[in-house]
Amino acid sequence: MNYETKKSDTGGGDPSRLIKQISVEEDCLDLPYTQEILTRAEGLPVTVLPSRSYPPPTGPYPESLKEGKRHLLLTRNLGRFFKPCPATREYRCCDYQVLNIGMNCPMDCVYCILQAYLNNPHLSFFVNIEDMLAEIKSAFAAEPERFWRIGTGEFTDSMAIDRLTGLSRILVEFMANKEQAVLELKTKSAVIGHLEGLKHQGRTVVAWSLNSPTVMAREELHTASLQQRLQAAAQCADWGYKLAFHFDPIIYHPNWQKGYSETIAQLFAMVPKEAIAWISMGALRFLPNLKNIADSRFPNSRFFHEEFILGLDNKSRYFRKLRVELYRHLHNELQKRAAPHTAIYCCMESDEIWRDVFGYAPEEKGGLATILDQAAAAVSTL
Ligand code: SF4
Repeated sequence: MNYETKKSDTGGGDPSRLIKQISVEEDCLDLPYTQEILTRAEGLPVTVLPSRSYPPPTGPYPESLKEGKRHLLLTRNLGRFFKPCPATREYRCCDYQVLNIGMNCPMDCVYCILQAYLNNPHLSFFVNIEDMLAEIKSAFAAEPERFWRIGTGEFTDSMAIDRLTGLSRILVEFMANKEQAVLELKTKSAVIGHLEGLKHQGRTVVAWSLNSPTVMAREELHTASLQQRLQAAAQCADWGYKLAFHFDPIIYHPNWQKGYSETIAQLFAMVPKEAIAWISMGALRFLPNLKNIADSRFPNSRFFHEEFILGLDNKSRYFRKLRVELYRHLHNELQKRAAPHTAIYCCMESDEIWRDVFGYAPEEKGGLATILDQAAAAVSTL
């Protein structure tokens, strides 16, 4: 299997290299952080826009996504930066806190929920970073007893444009003395340059989404290859970071068993298992209108044409029998290689599925949030 075979340019594992132009809102232009980003982006054309405006669309949505993903907008977040992950009551969620750093992504996964969720095609990044850090500090102060697991990847990829923004360095250093929290930076890129040499104090976990070689090659455009992701992960482990991996979305496709087994074997061949804090599994689930958008943008993609049921969260999912089969296969492959301290869990699944796959429901071990809080708390002491 040639893991480097991809049908699209990966940007050398750095998708920020695909950005073609930058727009800056007028009232952001003089911020030192904006200037820092523009210095790193030297050579790219820059346009200044009136505040609270968008670059003119290049066509109707979602066709405009193609250009929008190449156009970076530096803007202000006027809403909240920090909020709970919008999980649904019906499925076991991990009680994650989301840090909203921007919208959209220069990579292009066929299954990306953002295609259906966003209505603006541009890649936006929030430069009022001082407001973000102040909001986190006040949230921590308001609930001093609480343990926080924080991620930045809900509306974008955590590291995709980090070469330009350097946000990872700011967040890792900010989190280093926050004993009540762990930050997870989750990506499909291999952009880790800003993580080198930081005194992270074990408070940052660097995470990669993985899939079968077939899915990565066909359905994840402009992402880093498996080799690039795992080399980056091994380098981060060498710098003392703890790691996480997410098999999400697990997609049913011909030879899926072999494909996922190959990826898992490659993972444990390249990355020290002791460095892995947690691994999640999540079978494909999607809002029904995502299928129409993906069909129009990626007409050769077939995986949305399997049979699905509508779940309690109004998302389409595989039938329970197939979900259990997928999870059991991956779980067996992971469990026989993983270190005992690594938490392996299902993302957004029912107690019935948990019992079928793991033999217990999360509540029997204190709940999924507790299981992961314990894994996160253990991270800095491993
Ligand atoms: S890397 Fe993540 S955010 Fe970016 S296109 Fe893929 S699924 Fe969407």
